[in-house]
Amino acid sequence: MIYLDNAASAPVHPRALAAAMPFITENFANPSSVHTPGREARLAVIAAREQCAAALGALPEEIFFMSGGTESDNLAVFSALSVHHKRKIVTTAIEHPAVLNACSELERRGFEVVQISPDSEGVIHAEDIAAAIDDNTALVSVMTANNEIGTLQPVAEIGELCRRRGVLFHTDAVQAVGNIPLDMRELPVDMLTVSAHKIGGIKGAGLLYVRKGAPITPMIFGGGQERGIRSGTENVAAIAALGAAITEVCRDIPERCQKLSRLRDMLIEKLEKIPNSRLNGSRSERLCSNVNFSFSDIDGEALVMTLDLMGVCASTASACSAGKQHRSHVLAALGLDESLLDGTLRLTLSDNNTEEEITAAADIIAECVANQRGQSVI
Ligand code: PLP
Repeated sequence: MIYLDNAASAPVHPRALAAAMPFITENFANPSSVHTPGREARLAVIAAREQCAAALGALPEEIFFMSGGTESDNLAVFSALSVHHKRKIVTTAIEHPAVLNACSELERRGFEVVQISPDSEGVIHAEDIAAAIDDNTALVSVMTANNEIGTLQPVAEIGELCRRRGVLFHTDAVQAVGNIPLDMRELPVDMLTVSAHKIGGIKGAGLLYVRKGAPITPMIFGGGQERGIRSGTENVAAIAALGAAITEVCRDIPERCQKLSRLRDMLIEKLEKIPNSRLNGSRSERLCSNVNFSFSDIDGEALVMTLDLMGVCASTASACSAGKQHRSHVLAALGLDESLLDGTLRLTLSDNNTEEEITAAADIIAECVANQRGQSVI
């Protein structure tokens, strides 16, 4: 099997698995219990918080463990409720549904939500964000890197302007962590989302970084865990795995990215040879792990299924939500031609992939596209 769907879920890192195992097997204690195993579980959560903080250049008290990227994004968007007398959120048309649907909920509750459109390469321009901010704006939320087309956004510039205008700034960095350096001492963001299963951790954990002093209101109430911001017994195994995984992916970012960019560019070069193919997203402002192509006269879903039969795991635009495939709001926002919207393939790499796999996958994709078009590969 050639696994090219790492943006949907990445393989669990052996060190993450090793960190989680004791808390699935011998130590099942509740980290709030005062006995020895309980205190040991508590120490594992504390250690993971320190690892996450170190990897992001943050303070441990600025890290709040959540159940994943979706919950972290929701909490960040709902923090707009804590900014009194301001009822406007500025976001983009290409955010993950975890941000967009949370914004829609606030719209139902009386907020004004403005979605900024990207340019044809998927880049959001800071001037457009600046023009949308007014005295009523509570929050700006712009993702660091897009999950479908891998476009990197100018978050430092956007964060800087939010700071100047006194507006809270959140960025969803789920796809960016480990692919680009993120240092909270330098990046002017108030909140940042991380999901464990995209970086070698286990599903069901994530974190929201909240800069000290930034306003935040809990969405889940109960026993007061995570300093009252996220009640509920901590998922100790997944939290321990997240601490180990983030440490691993943030260790050698330049080296990993160099390897991944080489594989990515190799794949792009090969797929561009397929007639009537188009690379979606920016060539320069792009995640080192993302390749996204549209092929005219191709049904992307059928292509993904045929590729699966041939041993290649890929996605159409993004991993489908709850089994439902739908046209990509991201590709639609780029103004992609109708004939290309349905024939999209997302291939996302990890450093487990090899050159041989890339060559084999590219050949298989070319063959499947030609077969679907009723042509033969030359
Ligand atoms: N944000 C982005 C950019 C994502 O790619 C995803 C997952 O696909 C999420 C948020 C949601 O993360 P989780 O699956 O941990 O809820």
